[in-house]
Amino acid sequence: MTTPQPAHSSEAPFGYTRVGQPRKRPLSNREGFCPVKECSRNFRHRLNPRQAIWQHLAHYLNPPCTGFPISPFRRAHAEMHEQMKAELANNRLSENEKKERQKQSKKKWVEKNTEKRALSLKKSNLRKKAKRELKREGKDLTQQAVEELVEKWHAAETEK
Ligand SMILES: [Zn+2]
Repeated sequence: MTTPQPAHSSEAPFGYTRVGQPRKRPLSNREGFCPVKECSRNFRHRLNPRQAIWQHLAHYLNPPCTGFPISPFRRAHAEMHEQMKAELANNRLSENEKKERQKQSKKKWVEKNTEKRALSLKKSNLRKKAKRELKREGKDLTQQAVEELVEKWHAAETEK
């Protein structure tokens, strides 16, 4: 018996799941199995193996019947769930640290560029002033005439 193959296999470089959906990324050798060694249940055929494993582990968190001793198998899954949750929280923390570092470097960049921006703001104001001046004198508002005035004023100001 052959399983039906989707027509365009080139559209799924990572192959298909058992239900015929293209995989978004390749599965590593260990990925897609229950991380509990004694279990190692295969979830690779699932659309989202990672999520399936979370659900599988979470399933063992609460014993369905009270009064029954918790089996080592069940406990191993609950512990794995806790461990994976802690790892996830840890990753999130470093993700925040990364964001914080980016924020800091952006702040530094802004500080470095404040002077630059102040200068460009000043020149932009001088440009407006130059245009008013040229208009008042009835001269052509050419870019060259404006820039010449701006440079003249700016030079005069920085000489002070
Ligand atoms: Zn398992």
